[in-house]
Amino acid sequence: MKTERCGQLALKLLPWERRHERDVVESNTEEEMTMTKSMMDLPMNTKSTTCTCGGPAKYIETVCPCCGEKGMRVKAGTVRYLLTDTFREQAVEKIYGLCLSPDCSVAWYAQDGSHHFTVDQTDTPIWSKRGAEPAYICYCNRITREMIRHGVAVKGLRTMEEIVLLHRSEVTSACATRHPAGQCCEETFAQIIAEEVKESLGCRCS
Ligand SMILES: [Zn+2]
Repeated sequence: MKTERCGQLALKLLPWERRHERDVVESNTEEEMTMTKSMMDLPMNTKSTTCTCGGPAKYIETVCPCCGEKGMRVKAGTVRYLLTDTFREQAVEKIYGLCLSPDCSVAWYAQDGSHHFTVDQTDTPIWSKRGAEPAYICYCNRITREMIRHGVAVKGLRTMEEIVLLHRSEVTSACATRHPAGQCCEETFAQIIAEEVKESLGCRCS
């Protein structure tokens, strides 16, 4: 099993930053790239406005081999989908941990400790990693915290659907294939809307 270097995130151009550069030239290819990947047999409910894949985040007992922190529990299908083509077939364990440590270069590690994948082996920026850009809150619809802030403070919006539709033509729900944890973001999204509402109203209460 090929495992790449493990260590602190180096100060260099990360894969998603390279992709971002490319996107400036090929501005509308991102969606096409996502949709032409294999693993299309995974749940892809692209029309739903109510996601049913939620539930509380779960963690696995095995710790990250690099930083020693417990990672979020992720099924192999999600990991396979998000790895680049070169590494996709190497995700053979059933359950992985998603390392959230900001400075750790590990993205996912196998529950049995046999192997891991680094942030260089995926094109998807993991929101909690230092320098993740764009750091999406909602991966399905590519919505960042700044986009939520704008929707709340400038446009006066108060729901996830309204904010997504401000930027996208429809609300997409495909968390199993797009979110690094394979989890629904609805709860986090709602929490951020609430924080931004408080902020925009200048509320000082806790
Ligand atoms: Zn780690």
